[in-house]
Amino acid sequence: MSGDDETAATPRLPASRLIAPGLYLVATPIGNLGDITLRALDVLKQADRIACEDTRQTQKLLNHFEISTPTVSCHEHNERQRTVELMELLKTGGRVALVSDAGMPGISDPGGWLAAEAIAAGVPVIPIPGANAALTALVASGLPLGEFLFLGFLPEKAGARRSRLEALAAEIGEAARTLIFYEAPHRILETLADLEAVWGPELRVVVARELTKIHEEFLRGTAAEIRRELAGRDRVRGEIVLLVEARPLKEADAEAGTPLRIADRVVRLQTEVGIDEKEALKRLARELGQSKSEVYRELQRERARRK
Ligand code: SAM
Repeated sequence: MSGDDETAATPRLPASRLIAPGLYLVATPIGNLGDITLRALDVLKQADRIACEDTRQTQKLLNHFEISTPTVSCHEHNERQRTVELMELLKTGGRVALVSDAGMPGISDPGGWLAAEAIAAGVPVIPIPGANAALTALVASGLPLGEFLFLGFLPEKAGARRSRLEALAAEIGEAARTLIFYEAPHRILETLADLEAVWGPELRVVVARELTKIHEEFLRGTAAEIRRELAGRDRVRGEIVLLVEARPLKEADAEAGTPLRIADRVVRLQTEVGIDEKEALKRLARELGQSKSEVYRELQRERARRK
């Protein structure tokens, strides 16, 4: 690291001097306020305006650091309209700091549109790096770091989510890589069950919960182990990054050495436990934390694929 002013994108200026005009994309903490950077504080103090995903959320941060810069909302529902107004200010030499509720603006958050418009208009766009949930989780996951794919949130609907994961598994091809998702606590069990159904129970996953906060937690293990651990809790709470060591399907199949598909598991239950298909589906649904109809639909899909 260099403290040399000549190498810095934004030279360190005395607090009394204004930062250069332009759009500043400012990362804010993802939980622990100690993760704000000195440059972020300088920019937030000296900007003409702070464009926020949620002004109330950002106000808490500003109050904590005794910053009184005026704020304006800029969220997914008004980003385009707000961009027109902010561009007026930026084109006349204004200084705008853009922040989201947490982490890097633009990463599964608003911000990309305003940044693109500013670049197109020749306005300087200056990133102020800092906390980001995906990378924070990745570096401490223990999963391979060489190649990773950040995928944001999976679709909320069960069918669309499963299709997305199947498409991803097909796209992985020969290259193993770490996949990074953002996931809501009330969907994590279903998503782990989907991952298991697509890649098999031996898939290595990491659930990174409440990063940088008091109850920060990393759960590392197979999809089946982590799902069992979380299913045993009263309720899964907090913010979650889900990481997956995605490997080519054939490799995952061979390593697991067990049947991966619903169809195989149904047959296994029928023969080993001596129950009929309907009962086997019921049990599997319970085990996977899914509804019977979802498991049945998956069985039908697999049978169609095997024809
Ligand atoms: N822009 C943010 C960033 O740079 O990380 C992400 C915003 S996205 C709307 C919010 C999601 O990020 C959460 O639902 C969760 O999946 C993840 N996330 C944010 N803060 C987190 C934290 N402290 N611990 C774990 N996951 C977090």
